[in-house]
Amino acid sequence: MAEPKNLNDLLYETLKDIYFAEKQILSALPKMAEAAQSPDLKEAFETHEGQTETHVARLEEVFELIGKPVQQKTCNAILGIIEEGKEVMADFEGTDALDAGLLAGAQAVEHYEISRYGTMVTWAKRLGMDEVADLLAQTLDEEEITDQLLSEIAETTVNAEAAAA
Ligand code: FE
Ligand code: FE
Repeated sequence: MAEPKNLNDLLYETLKDIYFAEKQILSALPKMAEAAQSPDLKEAFETHEGQTETHVARLEEVFELIGKPVQQKTCNAILGIIEEGKEVMADFEGTDALDAGLLAGAQAVEHYEISRYGTMVTWAKRLGMDEVADLLAQTLDEEEITDQLLSEIAETTVNAEAAAA
């Protein structure tokens, strides 16, 4: 009989999910930066692209630390969020509401990541994997800071421009 699955297995499955998600985000961000009209929003997307490369590298380090192969598992949640972002880009192309739509999509992505990394940090700590928890917490911090920065851009410029149109 197969061993019952445990929290270690759940952590590994979730790592594969977020590894897939980060790679998808890495290919979506340059398109979002190109579509963004506000210079601040463009810059925020470009900065986060660089951070996302680090997130991918950190995950590879985590796979190494837990002694498991680097693998991706299709994450339907991120595919859905990115798909909705593409719809907004197509439907609001050339309008003053485009940036507000891009921003909302980007925050949905960050919130997904915050949820996943938050859970994985808690599990890694519970499993006594301090080094793993520490690496994942660094990424969690960057996702949270990005989310706050996006909120600021929304409140200070983008939403006002969308509403004024
Ligand atoms: Fe990330
Ligand atoms: Fe992110």
